Amino acid sequence: MGRVFSLLGLLLAVACAAPAMETPQPSSQEVRAEAYRQRMNYVRTLFGEQERLARIGYRLSVGVVDLCGDRATFTTGAFFFDWDQTKDDWVDAANEALGVNLHSPGIEVLIVVPGSRADKAGLRFGDRVVRVDDWRVRAGRGAFAEFRGRIDASLAQGSGVIDFRIQRGTEFLTIKLAPTRACDYPVLVADNQEINAYTDGRKIVVSRGMLRFARDDDELAVVVAHEMAHIVLGHVDAKRQNALAGAAVGAVFDVLIAAATGVYASPGIGRSVGANVGALAYSKDFEAEADYMGAYMVAQAGYDFTKTAELHRYMSTVDRDSMDYGMTHPSSPQRAISLDKTVQEIREKKAAGRPLVPGNGTREDQG
Ligand SMILES: [Zn+2]
Repeated sequence: MGRVFSLLGLLLAVACAAPAMETPQPSSQEVRAEAYRQRMNYVRTLFGEQERLARIGYRLSVGVVDLCGDRATFTTGAFFFDWDQTKDDWVDAANEALGVNLHSPGIEVLIVVPGSRADKAGLRFGDRVVRVDDWRVRAGRGAFAEFRGRIDASLAQGSGVIDFRIQRGTEFLTIKLAPTRACDYPVLVADNQEINAYTDGRKIVVSRGMLRFARDDDELAVVVAHEMAHIVLGHVDAKRQNALAGAAVGAVFDVLIAAATGVYASPGIGRSVGANVGALAYSKDFEAEADYMGAYMVAQAGYDFTKTAELHRYMSTVDRDSMDYGMTHPSSPQRAISLDKTVQEIREKKAAGRPLVPGNGTREDQG
């Protein structure tokens, strides 16, 4: 006890001492310029993180499409953004960081997942959409919802190809896009340094802390697949799902608005990750089930499924509480061992040339 007090006294003494050294003094102009550069880096980094998630989300959503029932839809691998929604003093920094023009209203291609249908068809970042089939894109309030509705309608007509008339610089091009089947599970970044991920039953949200924690895309795919498994297995309360049904639409755009303005347009994402995780805690059995199913989804999408168990061992190196018996999740030792067994099960199915689907008796045999 005495030691604590004397330490405190020492700290106070230090705090009271006046600084004796002369340190370099930046001018206010220099600080402003530096703030601008830091904002640009912030936008660029957040944007890169969303691109990484879009890539992983695309590959998983396409890879596991046979599992997602009425949430099966089509995707092109392109993400669009309505610049008209963006405002505020981050705009200049965002424009320069991303090489876009947020001052000019319209719908532009924001992300093209490498290797996706959109990429192969030649759609590029910054392309401005002028027309979708015979519908001319308009600017202003509600335009983006109309744009999405139009794409959905084109898909429903079932011709299998959408004509995108786009402007690239001064050039006008028509790009024919044939979408591919995929689960409708948008994967979004949350500007939050916790190591976390959650789903509300519509979208999957991964924190920036988790993006930094995961050492590669295989590990991040394990995290995303676990959340997808919660959706596929119907773990999310149906009522809650209905309440949030509209929230996923345009959520990626909200994130980018956040990047540009520092304010979250959607209350469902962002700084409230922790609160959402608390509200959506599942039983341990559900967690074990999502781990099991998630491992199969990772394998189906062609990611390294052997990383599933290792991720929980790695988690225990930064979160010592994870090793204990928890209230909502199985402990990291339980999860790692269960996943070792799941990995073995998947390996055997692969070796035998059997389909990579959960179950089929092997699991029961292991008790
Ligand atoms: Zn979970």
